[in-house]
Amino acid sequence: MISAREGLDRLREGSARFAANLRESDAFVSHTRRLEVAAGQEPFAIILGCSDSRVPAEIVFDQGLGDLFVIRVAGNIVAPSQVGSVEFAAARFGTPLVVVLGHSNCGAITATIEQLQVATGHQSRNLQAIVDRVRPSVEGLLATELRNDLDALVKQAVRANIRASVSHLRHGSELLERMIAEGSLVVVGAEYSLESGEVEFLDTIS
Ligand SMILES: [Zn+2]
Repeated sequence: MISAREGLDRLREGSARFAANLRESDAFVSHTRRLEVAAGQEPFAIILGCSDSRVPAEIVFDQGLGDLFVIRVAGNIVAPSQVGSVEFAAARFGTPLVVVLGHSNCGAITATIEQLQVATGHQSRNLQAIVDRVRPSVEGLLATELRNDLDALVKQAVRANIRASVSHLRHGSELLERMIAEGSLVVVGAEYSLESGEVEFLDTIS
């Protein structure tokens, strides 16, 4: 298994290829590759991303079959099943890197802002569970001047929500906390731009 830092480099390189329209991953989704990974997987990174149809992790990072263990949920929130999925992959495959991948103009963020600004009608309990997890990242920002500038507010809220999910993964699980302390797991945040196709990493690995 490669190191977290090497994994991050691979993601950076893949993301740059995707943004430059130079994808190489066709070879890694081939029939041969499919047979290779059928017997077992060794994903080098775990991606917790948003369900947004415009942010498929394998495509925006230009990776193939067996490379990424992907968890997608609206708003890239962290609830128990997301923590469990990360624990599973980290413990079972020895995957050393977790990336929380948020993105510009995330609908889960704008929906949360709308709900906090105007009392909207009755929301499904299940959808509300997602909004409730995003809300702490938005509430503090709504108390500042940002409330008068929706674009800036959304931008900051997307960042805050990514950081909240990173923090939750770092501190919301005894197993993950131990792996991080031992140096066998690193959790970083990243933001994908719908417009440029580029990914900006919010943390570095020393
Ligand atoms: Zn989203």
